[in-house]
Amino acid sequence: MKLTFLGTGDMFSVEQHHNSMLAEFGGTHLVIDFPESNAKALKQYGFAMTGIHNVFISHLHEDHINGVQMLGYYAQIVGDRKPRLFIHEQLVDPLWSILSPGMRYTTDGERTLGDYYDVVPLPDGGSFELGGVTFETFRTQHVPGMVSNGLMAKPYFYYSADSTLDRERVERIAPEVQLIFHECHMHDLVIKSHTSLKDLEQLPADIKQKTVLMHYHDEYADAAARAQFNRTRGDRLRMAGTLESFELVE
Ligand SMILES: [Zn+2]
Ligand SMILES: [Zn+2]
Repeated sequence: MKLTFLGTGDMFSVEQHHNSMLAEFGGTHLVIDFPESNAKALKQYGFAMTGIHNVFISHLHEDHINGVQMLGYYAQIVGDRKPRLFIHEQLVDPLWSILSPGMRYTTDGERTLGDYYDVVPLPDGGSFELGGVTFETFRTQHVPGMVSNGLMAKPYFYYSADSTLDRERVERIAPEVQLIFHECHMHDLVIKSHTSLKDLEQLPADIKQKTVLMHYHDEYADAAARAQFNRTRGDRLRMAGTLESFELVE
């Protein structure tokens, strides 16, 4: 399985792409979240937008979904099939509420989300299979009252998406995955909806060794700044960069 970050930036990032990851495996792929910056990242990476057939949406903050309208139109106008959209069942209608002002009316009549995407609604803790890999979703604590989900694919990776640290879950699943991709805001201040570096530093050393940080601010957009961080971390927490790839074996 090859995992490539299409973006590692947070919501306010202007110097790097917003957080999203492309997983390629078993002759297929899955993109986790679809910010607008994915179009440029995919071009830089050399993966055609018309080739995107599977997308998972973790939650509805702008920086994770503001490319969903573009991908839907692109697939319909330039592509030859509707992409599948794996999404928590409680997010389907709210997502359409966001998209519909720009997507409901077309020159060929009114459209619904299902006209652009093959929507796969997932219950709490729902899972789906692609290319022989099982992807398990789990509810996360991001913003109280808001539905948000992480994703796990054993024996490959755990992906926190935007969330506070669920230490109990991370410690429980760590032996079953090779890498843990965790969001980290990297600021010294407390941001209640996100995870701080201090939080992750509390993890046991063997878990920190497999933890890779994402969804951070632009101070680390520069590869040299990340290299400096990665070099100085004796305990091996490290940051991913946009378009950086990770190869995992079965
Ligand atoms: Zn975000
Ligand atoms: Zn968020």
